[in-house]
Amino acid sequence: MVEGTTGAAAGEGPGVSGAARSLRRLPKAHLHLHLDGSYPRAAVEALARKRGVPFSVPERFEDVWQFFAAYGEVPKLVETHEDLAALCRALVEAEAGGGVVYMEPAIEPQLYAPRLGSLGEVTRTMLSAFAEAARDHDVEVGAMLTINTDEDLAIAEDLAAIAASHAGKGITALGTAGFVEPAGLGRFRRAAGIARAAALPIVSHAGQTGGADSIAEALDELGATRISHGFRAVESVDLVHRMADARVCCDMCPVSNQRLGLVPDLARHPAPRLIAEGVPVTLNADDPLWFGAGITAQYEIARTEWGLADPEIAEFARAGALAAGMSLATRQRLLDGIDAWLSEDAGAGETA
Ligand SMILES: [Zn+2]
Repeated sequence: MVEGTTGAAAGEGPGVSGAARSLRRLPKAHLHLHLDGSYPRAAVEALARKRGVPFSVPERFEDVWQFFAAYGEVPKLVETHEDLAALCRALVEAEAGGGVVYMEPAIEPQLYAPRLGSLGEVTRTMLSAFAEAARDHDVEVGAMLTINTDEDLAIAEDLAAIAASHAGKGITALGTAGFVEPAGLGRFRRAAGIARAAALPIVSHAGQTGGADSIAEALDELGATRISHGFRAVESVDLVHRMADARVCCDMCPVSNQRLGLVPDLARHPAPRLIAEGVPVTLNADDPLWFGAGITAQYEIARTEWGLADPEIAEFARAGALAAGMSLATRQRLLDGIDAWLSEDAGAGETA
């Protein structure tokens, strides 16, 4: 379980060289986290109290659909733009505290627009809150405007147009997310074209509940250049080779996969096999509010469950620096910071 994994990581690595370096202090890019599932728990609980609504995080989810239902409750607590901005700022602050230098939250303004106004207005509130918090906490935030493939066909092109209008001004990618895979992504080809014409990459959820065919669908139908999850690529040798050749990065979330019952256990997560085949992989929290494990806990799994040494663990952070649409200055800051982390005396890091 997550708690046990986190505890075991506190200096008890399995004889791995450099096991005592602080993984929290490793500079990281956090590329796969859903805004609404990542707000700090205390901030959500405070908002629920303000609304007089009970809020709790279940011990476990029976399946992805139970999770999906719970997920939708948090946006309903948000009744004002200031509520939303405060949650966005709280998330950036929390991530900065976990060693995140660049973050790319997946935003779905469509979850808030029914109460707050137009998709454009909600998006602008999110982006201005991110920009303010990024300045305050010395990080960079680039949002991934995200189409929900389980629900959003009617507004997909509106979302893509909003993404395009903010390309390079707070939006760094167009995402697709949903639990039905393959998702029939051909329906979203026009939306993807709008985003690509504005130089935004397409980042699709695939290879999570669906097999290798769902990943091929994202690459072929939408021209996706990154995959959210993607661990089921291991089911096709040809696909793995294709992804390695094209440097298609998989933004993986091991704790999420375990908590939703999609992998048998953390030790047998396919991430190490994909890395060995040359597929770029990043580590991410997906929905830390619900799964109780932030980005550092995912890196601890790489150390304790997969037995990776620090130079190998650093490659996850490096993959994030190279995959995402951050500024050149932030990319350099990440790469230099990763090198500096590796050159630290391994015994000096854990207390910082
Ligand atoms: Zn996700």
